[in-house]
Amino acid sequence: LPVVAIVGQPNVGKSTLFNRIINERLAIVEDKPGVTRDRNYAQAEWLGHKFDLIDTGGITWENGHIEEEIRAQAEIAIEEADVIVILTSVANHLTDLDERIAQLLYRTKKPVILAVNKADNPEQRAEIYDFYSLGLGEPIPISSVHGTGIGDLLDRIVSELPRDLAKQDEERISFSVIGRPNVGKSSIVNRLVGEQRVIVNNEEGTTRDAVDTPFVDDSGTKFQIVDTAGIRRRGKVYEKTEKYAVMRAIRAIERSDVVCLVLDASTGIREQDKHVAGYAHEAGRGIIIVVNKWDLPQKTSSSGKEFEQTIREELQYLDYAPIVFVSAKTGQRIAQLPELVKMVHHNQTQRIKSSVLNDLLLEASKLVPTPMIKGKRLRVYYMTQVSTKPPTFVVFVNDAELMHFSYQRFLINQLRDNFDFTGTPIKIIARKRK
Ligand code: GDP
Repeated sequence: LPVVAIVGQPNVGKSTLFNRIINERLAIVEDKPGVTRDRNYAQAEWLGHKFDLIDTGGITWENGHIEEEIRAQAEIAIEEADVIVILTSVANHLTDLDERIAQLLYRTKKPVILAVNKADNPEQRAEIYDFYSLGLGEPIPISSVHGTGIGDLLDRIVSELPRDLAKQDEERISFSVIGRPNVGKSSIVNRLVGEQRVIVNNEEGTTRDAVDTPFVDDSGTKFQIVDTAGIRRRGKVYEKTEKYAVMRAIRAIERSDVVCLVLDASTGIREQDKHVAGYAHEAGRGIIIVVNKWDLPQKTSSSGKEFEQTIREELQYLDYAPIVFVSAKTGQRIAQLPELVKMVHHNQTQRIKSSVLNDLLLEASKLVPTPMIKGKRLRVYYMTQVSTKPPTFVVFVNDAELMHFSYQRFLINQLRDNFDFTGTPIKIIARKRK
C-alpha cells in the first residue's frame, strides 16, 4: 500500500488527526499481539483508496532533543512516505519550528500537503493565510477535534497517491527478512542478492523499486525482497529506536506474502522475536523460520534437533512453519530460501474443492465427536474454502457458539494431515447455516 506520513512540531494535534483518519479501521487492525497501544502506524481508507498512515511524531527518542526529533520525523517521512502531510496549528500561529520542518521538506520531490489544525471557527480559519509563507502551497484548514475539513484533506491525500503500486506487486512473490538487529538479516539479503539474477531496470519504475529488490530464479519465478533498503541501510538515529524498528517490521510483514523470521543460533530466542512472529502469524502471512549463524555453535549430531525443539516450545503457534539452518557467512543453505518461499507461496495460494473438503469432514466426524456445550451438540453441515493467503475455510454449523477452540484446532490438523499447508496459517470461520 502507499504510505502517508504526518509530520509536525509537538502539540499541533498529530495523533488526534491520526486517530481521526484511521477511526473506523481501528477496530479491525487493533489488538494484534506485539503492537504497542499508542499506535503510530495503521491502515486507513478513504473512498475506496487504501493507504498506510504513519504518525512520525509518535516515534519517540531516548533523550529526544526537539531539533533532532524534528529532523528525524522529516527524514522518516521523506524516505518512507509517498505523500507527506505537514501539520501546523492556528493556535500556535506560524512558528520557527514550522519553518524548519518546511525547509527539510523542500528537499523531497514527493507531494507535501500543508494542513492547519485547530481551525475550529471562522475567525480561526481566517488566520490560515499566514501559512502560505511556508511555500508549500495552499494551506488546508482542519479541526481534528471537530472533524471539519478532514474530508477535504483526505481528498487531497488520495489525489496524490501513486496509482500502480498494487498492480505491480501482483505477479511477484513478495517476501521479507525480519528479525532483531544483528541476527544477520542484511548479510542474508546480501548473499541472496549476490546469488540471484537481480532485475535492475524493471519496467514499471515506481517509487517502491528503490526499496524492494526484485529477482528471478532459474525457473523464471519472480520474487521481490520487501524493504531491502531498510534492511541494508544503517546508522541513522531514528533507525535505532525500537518503535521505529517494530513499525518498519510490521509494514514489511503487511507487504509480504511470506515472512522469513531470522533467529540467531548463537543467542537463541528473545522476547522481540516472539513479538514479530506473533504479528506475522496474526496477519496470516506465510512464515519460514531461518536460524542464522549456524556456523557458530559447537555442534553435535543432535544440535539441530535440540534447537528445533526449543523453537517449537517457544513459538508453539508456529508449528506449521518450516525451519532452516543457514549461515550467511559461509553461504550454507542460503540458496534454499527462495525455494522454500516458493513452496510456502504455493501452499498459501492453493484452493481445495468443496467436494474434497466435505469428504474430509465426513472422515473427521468418525474420528472425534463434535463438542457439546450445555447439552447442545455442534452439528457440522459443510465446509468451503472462501479465500487464500491465508487459506480460509467457512464451516456451516447449527450454532457458531458451539464451535469450540479445540474442535477448530482439530479441523485445522485434519486439513494439515490431508493437504500440504506447510508454512501457512489456516483460518476457520464457523457460520450458522441459514
Ligand atoms: P542485521 O542487523 O540483522 O542486518 O545483521 P547483519 O547482517 O548486519 O549481521 C550482524 C553481524 O553478524 C555482522 O557482524 C555479521 O558479519 C555477523 N553475521 C551475519 N551472519 C552471520 C553468520 O551466518 N555467521 C556468523 N558467524 N556471523 C554472521
